[in-house]
Amino acid sequence: MDLQESLTIVKKRIAAAAARSGRSASDITLVAVSKTVDIKTIRHAYELGVTDFGENRVQELNHKIEEIPQARWHLIGRLQTNKVKDVVGKTTLIHSLDRWNMAEELNKRGLQEEVVVPCLLQVNVAGEEQKAGIEPDEVESFLESLGQLEALKIEGLMTMAPIFDKGEKARPIFKELYQIKEKASKNRYNNVNLRFLSMGMSQDYEVAIEEGANIVRVGSAIFNP
Ligand SMILES: *Cc1c(COP(=O)(O)O)cnc(C)c1O
Repeated sequence: MDLQESLTIVKKRIAAAAARSGRSASDITLVAVSKTVDIKTIRHAYELGVTDFGENRVQELNHKIEEIPQARWHLIGRLQTNKVKDVVGKTTLIHSLDRWNMAEELNKRGLQEEVVVPCLLQVNVAGEEQKAGIEPDEVESFLESLGQLEALKIEGLMTMAPIFDKGEKARPIFKELYQIKEKASKNRYNNVNLRFLSMGMSQDYEVAIEEGANIVRVGSAIFNP
């Protein structure tokens, strides 16, 4: 299958899942996860209409931003504090804000560079020990404290489901993140506007959309079907 075909299939499935949840394809942002994918292929995807790409390693991300600066670039993987300077001011959205000292570092750098740093809060809904993210019952107090960090802009929540044999099994995880967002949205926090839910990967993006995702991070179903 070539890139155009796999992309067409993914887009159709996104549209169908969006329709099942009372929305349209234009309500869903597809982030094509291009980690390990070469520049030529990414450029081809861009020409086919993909505007948003996701990377999980900062060095690779930076290289690709230089090559294709006209695209929108998302950091989806765990960030180390010594790499903060390489992402602030360059990325469209950081999906992986997962701890307080990272929030402080991002804020410090944002203030220095006089830029806003758009982030999603990564939540460890599945409770897997090896997974990054803050605990569901800490989300609200975390959002409250983030109000002090003026350069940060928290635009929503992100989670990673465990790898299941069927995407359907991830449904309760996505439902829970949606509920966490709904509940937290009743409060008012400074610098917080929970408009995005980033959840769903190749194996489960349709289920995630049915449960309210408006950003899906799809890699292998596009680049390696
Ligand atoms: C790799 C990755 C994805 C995409 O995974 P696929 O199964 O290839 O779609 C999504 N989110 C994160 C955080 C990833 O690291």
